[in-house]
Amino acid sequence: MVNPVVLVTGAASGIGEATVRLYAERGHNVVAVDVDERGLAELEKLDGVATLAGDVSTEETNAGAVRLALERFGRLDAAVLNAGIGGAGPLESAGSIERFDRLFAVNVRGVALGIRAAVPALRAAGGGSIVATSSVSGLRGDPGTWGYNATKAAVINLVRAAAIDYAAQDIRINAIAPGGTVTAMTGSQVADPQFSRLITSRIPAQRWADAREQAEVIWFLTSPAASYVTGVTVPVDGGLSANGGILP
Ligand code: NAD
Repeated sequence: MVNPVVLVTGAASGIGEATVRLYAERGHNVVAVDVDERGLAELEKLDGVATLAGDVSTEETNAGAVRLALERFGRLDAAVLNAGIGGAGPLESAGSIERFDRLFAVNVRGVALGIRAAVPALRAAGGGSIVATSSVSGLRGDPGTWGYNATKAAVINLVRAAAIDYAAQDIRINAIAPGGTVTAMTGSQVADPQFSRLITSRIPAQRWADAREQAEVIWFLTSPAASYVTGVTVPVDGGLSANGGILP
């Protein structure tokens, strides 16, 4: 029996890294993609993990990642399009439009190119699954992160539309919407006790998520247990979206 093969972007840190480790532990072969070569070097040490350094906003990286999966492991069964960046600041701040363009290039174009590159290989495998990482920030507005919020909402509808196009070919396309999760992206917020308390006071579960808790839901969505689930975004947020993020 051949090990299933999964491609993970944004693999060197946080949710992506937890995802790579979880799939590798459970016997999958993994192609790990990131711009961070140092982080990738750590993942190379794991059994069954191949890495590719590259920027997901380029066709070259996405095509190269799928090619690597086929050359090294002979097939592709799932793609986790997780790479993302934050930031932007208020609408009128200096450089915010340049950041807006970059946010869309990585967070939205990166997912679209990833779907486009993965679909032919998934079809050749007889079907498969794609999971993109959106955010609770795609489900509501947040102060000062208008660009990020726009990209994460775009991912939710990109996933819906792409899922419809490929459902009859047994290719399922879903997203997760993480709430506050302890990673490099949120490191400074978690480390600031006052800010951290403000965030956790808004979350019914009253705590940040661990990256592994996101990876487990990605695992479920790519598994046969989710064989009739496509076109949806699953909040993984300790109940935050259930109460609208309102302070209790
Ligand atoms: P992280 O910063 O720990 O990891 C992101 C990874 O993506 C990094 O390794 C980074 O090098 C990589 N990356 C960035 N730009 C890239 C590019 N152009 N090409 C390839 N790789 C690139 O952050 P994280 O929290 O693990 O973020 C993962 C995803 O989860 C992102 O899409 C983020 O928006 C989303 N998210 C995170 C949270 C949270 O609270 N941490 C909440 C909601 C959504």
